[in-house]
Amino acid sequence: MTLHDNSFAPPSRAGVPRLVVDRSACAGHGLCYGRSPQILDCDDAGDPVVLKALLSTDQEIAAAEAAALVCPERALSIEFN
Ligand code: SF4
Repeated sequence: MTLHDNSFAPPSRAGVPRLVVDRSACAGHGLCYGRSPQILDCDDAGDPVVLKALLSTDQEIAAAEAAALVCPERALSIEFN
């Protein structure tokens, strides 16, 4: 490794963040939309529905992070376009 080797650089976080639900991992506990109702709701089956496709404010990003942290199935992630 040289001084200019950036192979250990963290992944890029450029772009607009969005909250993504892994439907195959979700068990429908409802903790996420209970924790962050400003960005998540549920459908009639109790599955989470993302209300904000793109997270455009610090408050929305914080709410998404809180929802992801509370999910016991690790079914939520924040992705960057
Ligand atoms: S907390 Fe996780 S497992 Fe539960 S409904 Fe939300 S995304 Fe699904």
